[in-house]
Amino acid sequence: MASTSQDLALLRRLSSISHLVTVLSGKGGVGKSSVSVQLALALLADDPTLRIGLLDVDLTGPSLPRMLGMEGRDVHASDDGWVPTGGLLACMSIGFLLSSSRESVVWRGPKKNAMIKQFLAEVRWGELDYLIVDTPPGTSDEHISLLESLRPILAPPSPSPPLPTLSALLVSTPQALALLDVSKELSFVRRTQLPLLGLVENMSGYVCPHCGDVVGVFGQGGAEDFCRREEERKASTVEGEGGGCAFLGRIPIDRELVALLDDVAASGAPEAGAGADTDADADGDTA
Ligand code: ADP
Repeated sequence: MASTSQDLALLRRLSSISHLVTVLSGKGGVGKSSVSVQLALALLADDPTLRIGLLDVDLTGPSLPRMLGMEGRDVHASDDGWVPTGGLLACMSIGFLLSSSRESVVWRGPKKNAMIKQFLAEVRWGELDYLIVDTPPGTSDEHISLLESLRPILAPPSPSPPLPTLSALLVSTPQALALLDVSKELSFVRRTQLPLLGLVENMSGYVCPHCGDVVGVFGQGGAEDFCRREEERKASTVEGEGGGCAFLGRIPIDRELVALLDDVAASGAPEAGAGADTDADADGDTA
């Protein structure tokens, strides 16, 4: 089938990314966006020279601009595509294209599909070590569009430019209800053959500031048990196929995180990666 100019633009953009991580959750409100941001910041803390992009494909509930203190900022269009907001930690979200954070997006699938394709083909990230993609909860139109756009990574055309590694990171709270939805997300990951990094348990207990006891607000250890069962299932299947989900760790409920995110949202954050090159143009996306 003949390639369209958008397909070619998409391949060109993808070829300038080394690793693409999609962050998924079965349920909303479990901390997928906060984990996406924390993952980006943790990578930068480990190596401040990394170039990291955060793409928000949650079209109806974009929260990255607010979490990064970038709400109200504009992205500008250049001849070579949209220039994302931010510096070393660059972000693109539909939130930057809306006139206000109260505006809602009421779109059918095809329009969402076109927007996501545009995000992947027309954002001028420059060379990126990581593109972290924050998705809506569940398995929606956005996921299907995203996976369609990323198909060249799973089934590269011939000839193909170098393409990023692709992986999925699941986020859940320890709650049984949230984990039930993780099973569905896991089934989606397997059906679409997305390589799975594993599962993070967020909001895993709360350390009481008065007595130091850990209170399991949403229960505790549920995600680890879930992963253990998945690993056992994997071990019991022929050639270990169709199962397995690594437990990646737990993040407690953190009052400071809530306060920080609220402060950042209220005041506007400084550029992440302070001291580093903060000019999005400086990456020289000339491919
Ligand atoms: P999702 O992307 O899954 O909808 P968010 O990342 O937007 O979830 O998180 C929902 C809310 O919970 C946000 O207000 C966020 O600040 C808060 N939150 C997420 N993780 C934690 C945590 N570990 N401790 C405290 N608050 C958290």
